[in-house]
Amino acid sequence: MEEDLASQDIDPVEMLVRIGKHHGKSAVFTSSLGLEDMVITDMIARNNIDVEIATIDTGRLPDETYQLMEKVRLEMGVDIKVYFPERKEVEDMINSRGINLFYHSIDNRHFCCNVRKVNPLKNILRNRSVWITGIRGEQTVARKNSRKVEFVRDHNVLKVNPLLDWTRDEIWSYVKIHRVPYNILFDKNYKSIGCQPCTRAVGKDEDERSGRWWWEDGIKECGLHLTGEVSTGLNLGNKSGGIID
Ligand code: SF4
Repeated sequence: MEEDLASQDIDPVEMLVRIGKHHGKSAVFTSSLGLEDMVITDMIARNNIDVEIATIDTGRLPDETYQLMEKVRLEMGVDIKVYFPERKEVEDMINSRGINLFYHSIDNRHFCCNVRKVNPLKNILRNRSVWITGIRGEQTVARKNSRKVEFVRDHNVLKVNPLLDWTRDEIWSYVKIHRVPYNILFDKNYKSIGCQPCTRAVGKDEDERSGRWWWEDGIKECGLHLTGEVSTGLNLGNKSGGIID
C-alpha cells in the first residue's frame, strides 16, 4: 500500500511510523543531538520505529554533546551509529591549513565543514531512500523555504523534515512533558549547538543561529542542508524513493 505524504500536514509520529514501515533501515535519521533531534529520537524510541539513527562525530564536538550521546545509549536504550570524517582528509587539512583554520577565512570554514560534516553525510546517505532531519523553518531563511517532504537531488534521497513547522516553544514543551534528555549547554544560554570552537552562548533576544560561526556574516549553515532540493508532491510508500507528482 502506498502512503501519500504530499499533503504535508501529517503528524510527525505518523510520518515516522510510515517511513519505518515502508523503508526500514534504508531510511536514516541524522541527529546532531540538538533539541529537535532529541524529540525525533524520543518519537522513534517510543514507537519502536525501525530506521537507522546516525550522527557525525566531527572530532570537535563539545564534551557536553558526548555526555548526551552516552545518555541516549544508556538511559534511552537507543543505538546511534557514529560516523567519522576520513582520517586522511582531516590530516591533510590540518597539516596544510592549521588546527583552527575556520577562524582565518570563510573558505577555510567551509572547507572544514566539508571535510568534517558534509563528506561523512555523503557516506551516511549513500544508497538510502529516505533522510529524516530535525530542521525547523524558524531556524534560518533557507530552512523556511524547505518543505516537510522534498527530494534532494545531490544525494538522490527523499528528505523528510517532520518538525519543520514546530516552534521552539513546542519543542521545549515536548522535551519537558516527555522528560527527554538534552544537552546541558541549552541551560547555559546556548540556542543551537554544533562544534565546540564554532558555537557560543547567545543573548536572550538573539537569533537562534547567531551563536554559530559568530565571527561571520550571512548564512549560518554548514552545508548539510544546503543542497539542491526540489520540493514536490512525494510518496513515501515507494521503496525506490522516486518522485510521484
Ligand atoms: S563547525 Fe567548525 S569545527 Fe565543525 S566542521 Fe564546521 S568549521 Fe569545522
